Amino acid sequence: MITANLGFPRIGLQRELKFAVERFWSGKWNERQLHDAARELRLARWRLQAEAGIQLLPSNDFSLFDHVLDTAVMTGAIPSRFRRGDQPLNAADYFALARGALHAAPLQMTKWFDTNYHYLVPEFEPGMEFRLAGDKPVREFLEAKSAGFQTRPVLLGPVSFLLLGQRRPGAENLRALAERLSPVYGQLLARLAAAGADWVQFDEPCLGLDLESAQRELYELAYTRLAARAPKIMLAAYYAGLRDNLRLACGLPVAGIHLDLVSDPGQLQPAIRSVPAGMHLSLGLVDGRNVWRADLDRALDLLRVAQWYCGDERLQLAPSCPLLHLPLDLRREAALDLRLSGWLAFAFQKLEELVLLARAAGGKNSFEIAGRLAEARRLRNQRQIAPEMRKNSIRARVAGIRPAMRRRASPYPARRALQAKAIPLPCLPATTIGSFPQTRPLRAARAAWRAGRISQAKYEAFLRREIERAIRFQEAIGLDVLVHGEFERNDMVEYFAERLEGFAPTASGWVQSFGPCCVKPPILFGDVERRRPIALAWARFAQSLTAKPVKGILTGPLTLLRWSFVRDDLPAAEIAFQLALALRDEIADLESAGLRVIQVDEPALREGLPLRQADRAAYLTWAVAAFRLATAGVRDQTQIHTHICYSDLRDFLPVLAALDADVISVETARSGMQFAAPGKQSAWGPGIYDSHSPRVPAVAQFRALIRQALHALPAERLWINPDCGLKTRRWQEVRPALRNMMRAVRQARAERCRAALRIPANLAASA
Ligand code: GLN
Ligand code: ZN
Repeated sequence: MITANLGFPRIGLQRELKFAVERFWSGKWNERQLHDAARELRLARWRLQAEAGIQLLPSNDFSLFDHVLDTAVMTGAIPSRFRRGDQPLNAADYFALARGALHAAPLQMTKWFDTNYHYLVPEFEPGMEFRLAGDKPVREFLEAKSAGFQTRPVLLGPVSFLLLGQRRPGAENLRALAERLSPVYGQLLARLAAAGADWVQFDEPCLGLDLESAQRELYELAYTRLAARAPKIMLAAYYAGLRDNLRLACGLPVAGIHLDLVSDPGQLQPAIRSVPAGMHLSLGLVDGRNVWRADLDRALDLLRVAQWYCGDERLQLAPSCPLLHLPLDLRREAALDLRLSGWLAFAFQKLEELVLLARAAGGKNSFEIAGRLAEARRLRNQRQIAPEMRKNSIRARVAGIRPAMRRRASPYPARRALQAKAIPLPCLPATTIGSFPQTRPLRAARAAWRAGRISQAKYEAFLRREIERAIRFQEAIGLDVLVHGEFERNDMVEYFAERLEGFAPTASGWVQSFGPCCVKPPILFGDVERRRPIALAWARFAQSLTAKPVKGILTGPLTLLRWSFVRDDLPAAEIAFQLALALRDEIADLESAGLRVIQVDEPALREGLPLRQADRAAYLTWAVAAFRLATAGVRDQTQIHTHICYSDLRDFLPVLAALDADVISVETARSGMQFAAPGKQSAWGPGIYDSHSPRVPAVAQFRALIRQALHALPAERLWINPDCGLKTRRWQEVRPALRNMMRAVRQARAERCRAALRIPANLAASA
């Protein structure tokens, strides 16, 4: 039995990857310096994994930006707008694919399965020739070998690669593409065999999805072509159980299959029954996506079953999935509460757990191993009985949730009439999504305050000045519902997590989100409780500055849940309800403080959808319930907004309607500014300013988009707003862009809103 790792975080202990790439982008470093830093980083990663005691290390799991992009580059699948003859790409060309170039839009970026990692979507064009255009896996294998590490190169499997891409109009069908792609993988395998690789890992996470029969056939087609070759192929599926694809996977001519036994421990028995004799099994026994110390006893039980049936020779022990989604090393979290850190395992610690499991299962039940297992058990048990994990008052409150608490007093049409009186707004009301630019001085002030270099009072005075300036600006350009700007928030999840009981932020628990960009998810470890108001003071201050309505803005329960590392001992629904109750209290406070408009952001609502269709209805039921529990406690006169982004929502409209919000603002840039018409149950604010682009749209562009939106829905239910928050923009872009947006709004009102302006038609006609 050997221990193997499927993939390791790329960014480095001190986010070296981020800084190297950014130095290269800014021109401070040349390509050689970038590659030198990357090589150092790779060596450090192998050393660390070897230090943990892992026998089979991954190689080619590193990437300068994204492994799907690397696969496209390696197989020659480069869109023609980026191609320059057959010349190999240099680093600048490579990054141009990810970030765009003057003449060429970048590849689309989207979420990697149900994780928070983003990949670049390959494009398959008509007539595109696949060829082995790069040898990164071979180079990195040899690099490891010469440093003394025997590795298993990791490749994104051909079928997942094809299924994750998009075919441009006129491109061949998937089957034809697979037929032409397989030989390229075949050549690569031959090169890896020649270099001395005895295993390769083929990542095929699409095996965890609902597959149509044509898609299953792709697997048979592609893998049959690769069958006879060395090195041995370990087929890795993860993030979900194989379920109805188990037979398919076991029937492929590969040397081994990796099973994610954390997502689906129940698949071990059927897998043992289905795998052909001699096939290796990689057991994903340690959770590669969450930060909790493993239940080693349970893992050992599963492992012993596999041992009994398969014998040791055919078994490998691995994390459930690549460790890409975990922070690197718990030993760096010096500031974390000691007891809490005893409950956790980051990437390095996950590997130590695997090694311990392998030793424990290896038979020699030494005193030392028994002691370490006992210690692990003690720490897990300590977590189960810690007082923060179970607060009776909170449990009782969740148990006491009544359906009526999820219903507004009146249905939308009645609320709409009451709100029209309570919150006087013009036709086509205009607002923003919440955040304004996080400037360098603002970040510096926050860092100084956190480090204790400036006082709380000074920092708050600074924030008040920023808020006041933002309010004056919004008044000056004529926005109707104002925001305070979210200057006090480092991050929309972290800010709330730092102020709710049950959450613990980490100091350096960075996880790659895309390319060099990292996020630092907080740890939701215990029962969630709001001890004191969170966003209230700033919202109230902003409202005190203006007669126009200010929108109080909160991060919703599903987003708080989704973008944290969440406890694994309670159903997600129950955690969501705890979060919802905390937010419900905050919303009540905002309402009592005189805020008439409250927005609850749920950018992560859609990405929480389970990978398999069959699991979705259950998720949506509790997700919608949690949102409504948070928001439905307000008076009819209070207007509830929600904001949702990061996904194409065209197939999601019934869910949005079920939220029963009064106004829903959504991102439309990603769906090509297509304004789907939602139902009649709410007003709708399709984003007309792409807040992810530095471009300043002209008035005419805004006008055109407003016109387009007015085709999809009536003026009475249309709001005007940007796509998303503006925190990553600069004021130099935001000021002219919003000014243009407001000019366009005024023109549109003049044309469309006679009735709403209460100008009698005859007067208006003569005017
Ligand atoms: N209110 C948040 C902001 O404006 C929303 C961010 C988001 O949707 N991702 O930044
Ligand atoms: Zn958004």
